[in-house]
Amino acid sequence: MDNIRLLPYCCPQSYNISLVVDISSLTYTGEESIVLIFSEPSSIIKLHVSLPVKITKLSNKSTGEELLYTSHPYDIIEIALNQVIQGDFTLNISFQGKIASDTKGFYASFQESETMLITHFEPTYARKAIPCFDEPGLKSKFSLQITTDSEYTVISNMPGQSISSESNTKTTTFQESPLMSCYLLHWTICKHSSISTLLENTEIRLYARNPSFSEDFLILAKDTLAYYNTLFSIPYPLPKIDLISVFNMSVRAMENWGCITFHCTCIEKLPGETFQKFFRDCRTLCHEISHMWFGNLVTMAWWNDLWLNEGFARFMEFKCLDKIRTQYRTWLKFITEVTYTALNIDFPVSRSHPVEILCLDPEQISKYFDSISYLKGASVLRMLEELMGEENFDNAIRVYLDKYKWKNVTSQDFFSTMSEFTKVDVIEIMTTWTQQAGFPLVTVAKIQDGLFKVTQKAYDNEATGLWMIPIKYVTDKGQIGFYLLDSEEGVIEADAIWIKINYQSRCFYRVLYEDNTDLLKDIKNLSVEDRYGFIQDTFAHYTNGLLDFPTLHKIIMALVPEYEYTIVNTIVSFIQGNLGDQLIGEYIRKMLEDFLMPLWDKYGYDGESSDLDFESLKKKYCKILLNDCKSEKVAKDILERVRDDPKEVDIYYKCLIVLDYLDEAKTLAETSYIFCNSVLISSNSYELIKRAFRLCLKYDKEDTEFEYDKYVFGALYSRHEVYPNDNFFRVMVDEYIETDNQTYREEIYKLIIIYSSNIYYKVPEIESFIEGHLEKLNKAPVEGCIPEILLECLEKFNSGFKIESNNEEALKYFADIKQKA
Ligand SMILES: [Zn+2]
Repeated sequence: MDNIRLLPYCCPQSYNISLVVDISSLTYTGEESIVLIFSEPSSIIKLHVSLPVKITKLSNKSTGEELLYTSHPYDIIEIALNQVIQGDFTLNISFQGKIASDTKGFYASFQESETMLITHFEPTYARKAIPCFDEPGLKSKFSLQITTDSEYTVISNMPGQSISSESNTKTTTFQESPLMSCYLLHWTICKHSSISTLLENTEIRLYARNPSFSEDFLILAKDTLAYYNTLFSIPYPLPKIDLISVFNMSVRAMENWGCITFHCTCIEKLPGETFQKFFRDCRTLCHEISHMWFGNLVTMAWWNDLWLNEGFARFMEFKCLDKIRTQYRTWLKFITEVTYTALNIDFPVSRSHPVEILCLDPEQISKYFDSISYLKGASVLRMLEELMGEENFDNAIRVYLDKYKWKNVTSQDFFSTMSEFTKVDVIEIMTTWTQQAGFPLVTVAKIQDGLFKVTQKAYDNEATGLWMIPIKYVTDKGQIGFYLLDSEEGVIEADAIWIKINYQSRCFYRVLYEDNTDLLKDIKNLSVEDRYGFIQDTFAHYTNGLLDFPTLHKIIMALVPEYEYTIVNTIVSFIQGNLGDQLIGEYIRKMLEDFLMPLWDKYGYDGESSDLDFESLKKKYCKILLNDCKSEKVAKDILERVRDDPKEVDIYYKCLIVLDYLDEAKTLAETSYIFCNSVLISSNSYELIKRAFRLCLKYDKEDTEFEYDKYVFGALYSRHEVYPNDNFFRVMVDEYIETDNQTYREEIYKLIIIYSSNIYYKVPEIESFIEGHLEKLNKAPVEGCIPEILLECLEKFNSGFKIESNNEEALKYFADIKQKA
């Protein structure tokens, strides 16, 4: 594969780049002078260049002699030197380019009347902006000068050292960058304003259209930078760090050294954001800042070790937030959003790949910026921290960064540095996790009290493999133990009636207990993290046929009363998503009610918790209790609160109770947007849906207050958990048939098309309803053909419906229970 790489003995030392950017025509010209060192004699140079960049002239700087080149595959050109060179050589290049409209290389991004020009070079797009040596291992220093319209601000990796103006243009010259890979070079040309703060000598600036809303984000950046400065013992190496809002980019953010770009929805804060959204944005910020060390200062030698950048940054975002924002329960979120998400993605093995990839082709690399590199990479690192202990891990990281700063590394370099700080063989253990796809299933069988046999095999039956598995466990007496399972089976000796392995769900495998009777008796005493991992494994085993329905039911019920929202949320979603077909609907509703009612009994309407996700989860389960479980008690509780103090009750709950239960509630004269939206998303009351639907679509033309038609579309999309008797559908069809208003009818026509493309379940009642209405529908057509659309719906109902074999088993199980009772 020689032809895809540049010459290893011809390395750039420094670039001097001048660009003249014409914003009105979206074009630019450039002059480049690149100092090269040949460590071996050569008469050729290879470098990268790709459209829309065109080279107009190449020359030897010292002699002025013009040079010729030939083009090769993989965006490589080969320059003939007419003589053999060793040592220094300076290459001059003149070029021109078009500013792109996609999000690669040097591109333009527009919002309303505003234009901004930015670069995005990772992994291989620098060559689309300038001729360059576009490999991560070829680090160089960059000096940049940009001339453009004087109304714009120009930002790059380093601070501007001088600005000169001439009529309508200005030229910004930036300080020389430190040694860095080409993909980290960046410039932005924009009209944003900025806010800033200082951390010792480092200036932190945030550029956005309205940066004053993002002050908390700037403070978070400062705290993050301070945390990393201390943790890594290497102060942030550049004089400044900018956080730039970009209208359009294909990723959430990019770690250009000293000038991180963020998608505007991530950095431009709006009032009323949910905590989940805010937390995600905080993570992104901590992620990108950690790259200033992991990725920028110490860089993978080639893209096959991408996980050293991305897995690390994903791990660090949690490690950092856990320390600087202790109230966020960050590690619990790591388990839910990283570890167990990655376990789901890393199965089956045929659709996965090892963390360390065998990718030589740079054109393939962007597809490896995936969940395995990020999420499994991060999970494996957390397992390593668990194996070494936090203090050893942190010390090793400091040495690793110091040893390899300004350089490039491989996974091997990383593991061998880590090895120096622990007695265990890090390389031998960790490569079983990074060099093969998939993960093990550890089965625990109790031999007798105090003796537990553990065995491992690949979770995926189609795969084979052996892992070196760090097993930390907790016993019924609360003692913690450790065992390294380095072969197919082993025996753990522990003074215990039961052991729960994968303590706090910190490692990357699943666990199956041959008999969990004793463990289930005490399950409520386990930590949230342990309960969460246990229930996630249970669901995976059930889905993959390793565990039967009675056991699943027993485990879920053993957790009642469960007050931890993360777990409640997971269980409720699983029940709804996997078991919710009509065959066993009655039992499922009962399960949900048994599971959720204790929460309502404990918290009710007024309950509060320090959990930041509490409010949104409370709303969610309240809705399930009302809509799915038809809980009269919950409806009455809320209605009582409305009677006591109507103003104090959140509109959301008001909307919930008007949805179907108590006649009194239906008379609430609510007409607000949130009412309509809630009804359209959540209610199945024919009367209410009709009212909301008409309000939103301005059925009554005299009422000009409502302009919510677009929300009907939104509500339709959110309504994918279609009711068995969906009255929304009935309302649409009836309104369509009955109205004389052609505009109104056309609106409904569009909505029915959307609805028809958005149905996942068979709804037999609707099927017969459509059949019964075909004749009437045919008499009231728009220009399209509604009956055809509806017949399409019918087909979808039919093809989308199948009874899962698991559910037949479940049905039999429930029937047995009922008989016994
Ligand atoms: Zn990243």
